[in-house]
Amino acid sequence: MTGAGTRFDLLVRGGLVVDGTGRPARPADVGVSGGRLTVLPPGSSSGSGSGSSPGSAAGAAEVLDARGRVVSPGFVDVHTHSDGVALLGPAGDGDRPGDGSGNGSRDGSGRELVRASVLQGVTTEICGNCGSSLFPALPERLAAMRAETRITFGGDVGAYADFAGFAAAHAGVPRANHLASLVGHGTLRAGVLGPVDRPARPGELRAMCALLDASLTQGAAGLSTGLIYTPGSYAGTAEVVALAEVAARHGKPYVTHLRDEMSRVEEALEEAVEISRRSGAALHVSHHKTAGRYAWGRTERTLPRLAELRAGGMDVTCDVYPYTAGSTALAAMLPPWANDGGLRALTARLGDPAQRDRMRRAISEGVPGWENTVGNGGWDRISVACAPRHPRAEGATIADLAAAAGADPLDVAADLLVAEDGEVTIISHSMIEEDVRRVLAAPYAMIGSDGVPKPGGRPHPRWAGTFPRVLGRYVRELGLLGLEEAVHKMTGMAAARFGLSGRGVIRDGAHADLVVFDPAAVADRATFTEPLLPPAGVDAVVVGGAVVVRDGEETGARPGRVLAL
Ligand SMILES: [Zn+2]
Repeated sequence: MTGAGTRFDLLVRGGLVVDGTGRPARPADVGVSGGRLTVLPPGSSSGSGSGSSPGSAAGAAEVLDARGRVVSPGFVDVHTHSDGVALLGPAGDGDRPGDGSGNGSRDGSGRELVRASVLQGVTTEICGNCGSSLFPALPERLAAMRAETRITFGGDVGAYADFAGFAAAHAGVPRANHLASLVGHGTLRAGVLGPVDRPARPGELRAMCALLDASLTQGAAGLSTGLIYTPGSYAGTAEVVALAEVAARHGKPYVTHLRDEMSRVEEALEEAVEISRRSGAALHVSHHKTAGRYAWGRTERTLPRLAELRAGGMDVTCDVYPYTAGSTALAAMLPPWANDGGLRALTARLGDPAQRDRMRRAISEGVPGWENTVGNGGWDRISVACAPRHPRAEGATIADLAAAAGADPLDVAADLLVAEDGEVTIISHSMIEEDVRRVLAAPYAMIGSDGVPKPGGRPHPRWAGTFPRVLGRYVRELGLLGLEEAVHKMTGMAAARFGLSGRGVIRDGAHADLVVFDPAAVADRATFTEPLLPPAGVDAVVVGGAVVVRDGEETGARPGRVLAL
């Protein structure tokens, strides 16, 4: 309650509150003091109605006028690859050579990359997805891991023994929003065995479980796998079950990029279900999709299966991004054996014509157990997103580059990988709109950008556009989702899944993470050619009670921190 003399640090006045639970919107004012919320009847704080008080508005240090706007909890981006971007520093281009275009600050400096997330209303990012995090590792593996993350993040972002080390590295870098991290199984595996294609020995598996246990105790959010990516893909089901049992003991979820999201997506989903059942861990399916021409329409089978599991009492959820294109590493287009030993081993193999022919055959014929993206689509659906030493290739498809060079596409891809030390990001136009809509509409699907913020190039626009795109295109324009339902997917549902207690809702005592947006104007503006353009209609963002975005611009406040869960 607000009595006379109540002073708020901040008052968000006159808006329509969508509280994140899915309940109907209602007019209310929202006060903030000490980083916590108080919900006030509309007008009670305006100073116009309640007489004696000179007005609580005057009793607030700062007021945000939210008339005509929606006030919602801050968005939780449940799926990012933003683990290292803040550690790159403001220039953020690491050892990237200049491309002469003079537009480095527009299309991908560290500062531009970091702010894209908060400008779309994200107050908490969850990184460490798809089996890849910046920790943990045995001490003797840290130097090798640091060399790999230097390449994959385009700068020296480090590698850490555990979650506490990761959090300490971030503690020295002021940030606008909060960050939580999962423990990536591929990283964990490389941190014990190295990036090798063989089963873990019993002692190695015990060491992996111990490292996982320590990081979960320190506050990591759960366990993630990326079972299409090496070295995670070298693990069998039993290894993942053993690790998921550790997550289950902590009451934290098993979060998985399935072993196949294309022609064998249903089998891959059943493997995840088995892992959840045997381990007792809750299951969260990352960026659920059925990609590649042979799997288009298959969400008509996977979603009823998930609904059936939920009806049977299983704790299973998923996330989704609102685009028909994905983004990943070019190296992931090659068969698993090609990546055995890590990036250096890959580039060595790519220098051998006989090995290239073997890769070409694997792509045209398939390899059992391997999701073959190019075989399921074609090089004409793969475009180059980030290739720092070849800016002219960025935006072109591998097929176009091959045609222009009069070369075979595999050779073009191989040459590019060798010249870039194995690290090239691609965009894969692999999905159809009907599948994306079906997943978005599933009542247990939350929103995750799957953003991969890396310096330079043309990253997927989802890092800057996901949340406004859902609210603009899928709520306002297409009516696929109700406003309250969409906000719930971005806030309360996500916070409940990942244990963000006191976040994702607007209620008395909750953490003061808020977004103020215009429901009539909110829209993504980021595109594949201008991937970091800020959205329209996201007026203000509040993190921990501090206004970090006002009138669509960063204020410079840096209240964010790493969340230990
Ligand atoms: Zn993934």
